[in-house]
Amino acid sequence: RAKADGRSMLRFFESQMDSEQRERRLIEADLRGAIARQELVLHYQPLVNAADGLPTGFEALVRWNHPTRGLVPPAEFIAIAEQSDLIVDIGDWTINEACMAAAAWPEHLTVAVNLSARHFRRSDIGRVVQRALQSSGLAPRRLEIEITEGLLIENPEEVIEKLGEIRAFGVTIAMDDFGTGYSSLSYLLKFPFDKIKIDRSFVVASTNDPIARDILRAIASMAKTLKLKITAEGVETAEQAEFLSEIACHQLQGFYFARPLTPEDLPAYLLSTVAGGATEPVEPLRAL
Ligand code: C2E
Ligand code: MG
Ligand code: MG
Ligand code: MG
Repeated sequence: RAKADGRSMLRFFESQMDSEQRERRLIEADLRGAIARQELVLHYQPLVNAADGLPTGFEALVRWNHPTRGLVPPAEFIAIAEQSDLIVDIGDWTINEACMAAAAWPEHLTVAVNLSARHFRRSDIGRVVQRALQSSGLAPRRLEIEITEGLLIENPEEVIEKLGEIRAFGVTIAMDDFGTGYSSLSYLLKFPFDKIKIDRSFVVASTNDPIARDILRAIASMAKTLKLKITAEGVETAEQAEFLSEIACHQLQGFYFARPLTPEDLPAYLLSTVAGGATEPVEPLRAL
């Protein structure tokens, strides 16, 4: 009996695995043509100054506008793309698209682009970034590159060197999802970061968990010592925003301020917050 059960379990897992692999292969094959078919789009989520709630820039977040699946979030295809050179094509497209878009924004606004550490290993990323800056005319100080902490561990020396090259152009380097990887502290000391982005999970936990608040205070004071800027991501409530400003986070990002905006929605948002570079503070636009 036990044996029969074991065998049917095994069959069940095998068939599960097959269908997951099939799904991955389908997505991968589809994704190969997606850039050429112009199916990738960038949405832009504001990052706001903690002191006044006004936008300092936007994070570019990729979506796949699939003809039958609809708007596919990055969680469903970036990890698949990272298994092959597809991540290079997506990264190259993203950096170019984001720089072109940002070059048309008011000059005080920055654009943050997520690049995969796996992309770094497969291409001459310094040249890619330099070309994107040149062809868009975007000033290097207006570009930020976000690298997820978790992927740094795989080949740190090479990533450090390439990040250093990009940083030398005047581009800002941010460690994304801070606190979710390993060896956070030693990496902070080794890598040429300007900024850390505290992972959403700490922000969520800060609401009910005093220990999470203590951890956030500790991160903030460490960042201050290391002269790093701090952004908190995933801010959803006024209470969280208030606490994070109190502990001296520089920037906040989250649904409380604004969701990621489509390129079509961006002009109206900009008009409502930075109208004509107004010197008068404008009431920050809350959750759209
Ligand atoms: P991330 O870089 O940490 O981006 C923040 C994610 O949190 C975004 O999800 C954003 O929509 C979401 N978010 C922002 N504020 C809130 C909030 O208040 N509440 C909640 N629940 N979520 C919030 P998204 O766009 O689905 O992106 C997920 C991840 O996919 C990103 O995490 C990033 O690691 C990756 N990603 C996005 N775009 C790209 C890209 O162009 N290239 C690469 N390599 N990765 C990308
Ligand atoms: Mg990011
Ligand atoms: Mg992040
Ligand atoms: Mg995150």
